[in-house]
Amino acid sequence: MRKEPVKIREYEISRRITDFQEVVLGYNEKEARLEAKRCLQCPNPACQLSCPIGVSIKEFISQIAKGDFKEAYFTIRQKNDFPSICGRVCPAEYQCRKTCVLTKKDALFASEEAINIHFLERFAGDYGLKNNLKIPLKDKQLVRFKVAVVGSGPAGLACAGELARQGIGVDIFESLHKPGGVLKYGIPPFRLPRDILDYEINYLKELGVQIIPNFIVGRLKRLDELFKEGHSSIFLGMGAGVPSFLGIEGENLCNVYSANEFLTRVNLMSADKFPYFHTPINIGKQILVIGGGNTAIDASRVALRLQVINGFNPDVTILYRRTENEMPARRLEINHAREEGVKFEFLVQPAEFVADEAGRVQKLTCLRCCLAEPDESKRRRPVIIEGSSFQVGCSLAIIAVGLGANSVLTNVTPDLKTDKYRDIIVNPQTMETSIKGVFAGGDIVGGEGTVIEAMSMAKKAASSIIERLSLPASYNSQL
Ligand SMILES: Cc1cc2nc3c(=O)[nH]c(=O)nc-3n(C[C@H](O)[C@H](O)[C@H](O)COP(=O)(O)OP(=O)(O)OC[C@H]3O[C@@H](n4cnc5c(N)ncnc54)[C@H](O)[C@@H]3O)c2cc1C
Repeated sequence: MRKEPVKIREYEISRRITDFQEVVLGYNEKEARLEAKRCLQCPNPACQLSCPIGVSIKEFISQIAKGDFKEAYFTIRQKNDFPSICGRVCPAEYQCRKTCVLTKKDALFASEEAINIHFLERFAGDYGLKNNLKIPLKDKQLVRFKVAVVGSGPAGLACAGELARQGIGVDIFESLHKPGGVLKYGIPPFRLPRDILDYEINYLKELGVQIIPNFIVGRLKRLDELFKEGHSSIFLGMGAGVPSFLGIEGENLCNVYSANEFLTRVNLMSADKFPYFHTPINIGKQILVIGGGNTAIDASRVALRLQVINGFNPDVTILYRRTENEMPARRLEINHAREEGVKFEFLVQPAEFVADEAGRVQKLTCLRCCLAEPDESKRRRPVIIEGSSFQVGCSLAIIAVGLGANSVLTNVTPDLKTDKYRDIIVNPQTMETSIKGVFAGGDIVGGEGTVIEAMSMAKKAASSIIERLSLPASYNSQL
């Protein structure tokens, strides 16, 4: 057996910071087969149990090893509607790859030796896309029903796909002008090229899914109105789109952005092409990004590219109050950010933004931290070191310290029960909410998670909806 993992080809660093082209170039057929042949084909594959949607990993890897790429694609598609997307964004190092037997015991995340399951999934997914492979519709068609889906992020899209393949009519209501949720407005194209997302969305449209953009459910229509219009069930996949802030002095100064706003301006509103597109963005000389998750890494890499494109010397620093080990961001992305020139300052807590005479941010006062015992998030808790205050120059700050639920819909739907974070409460077996016939999944349930977790909840909700709609008409007429 070949021991060394097959390295993934990547866009060269000096060129990649000058544009938004995809960084990871993927495996070709020969590389994919070589990597697949490293898989030990364990009798009880732990990797499959740690995949939130239970993809038959062992089987599709064995098919790739044999060169049966089409079969590999269909094996994955039995469980996962978006292999090309998940193969690019899944935090495999904390999920399937972490439990690969080739990962060292007690490792915090997957060892390099672990099989590159996500790159193989991406290879098979891209093979399916290139060859326009389509999975067959389900035998039993429930064409007389129509379901409303609120939100077109991975949760909404995954739920719509499951329902549409069953012949159920789906109307997706999306508040933004383009569908995709975070896959469109958050994750930058150098991680997830837009043609891949567009391909999957177009496929759903081919299945008959209708996408209604610029439509805020809760403002333009309430849930009872969607029922009255003939929707038999409703799925809520509104995500967690409201940014958290630090709650420190100076946070509302000019040129202090939330990462959500910053990324949306660039990814959705084409601020990188200003003035050809009418979305201005400030590109400062000295950019600070606060946070340690995927959002912070994405924001830092976008900011650095914008500096280079606009003729500045790259100067982007991520400030994080714990150490690299505790960073929730994907390891691959941390490494990419570092090799592109993003700097990291660990064990630093922002204390106050300081303005220049025009009211623009000029400096950030920070405090140094050390780590105490793990907190409720199971990560070691940062503790401020007395008298450790220092200042750093800052012409643009991007805050990426978490996202929470948007209450537009829940505020006008008193029967819809939410928890103290304003997340929607569901029955975890069925994903049904406190309102009969209304289901929910993704980040609006349980807070910020991952793409694959959102899809997993959405698929579960779709199964419940299908099960419900398959019941006798007398039951469904009571909804
Ligand atoms: C910058 C960034 C990078 C990330 N990177 C990764 C990564 O690499 N890997 C990973 O697995 N996860 C990543 N995540 C997390 C992941 O994207 C989310 O967990 C996932 O998108 C959640 O899916 P969702 O469908 O629940 O919500 P979203 O993707 O947020 O989609 C919700 C959609 O609902 C719409 N909406 C909201 N309210 C309404 C309403 N009232 N009416 C109509 N429409 C509404 C929103 O406009 C949005 O389009 C990242 C998140 C961010 C912000």
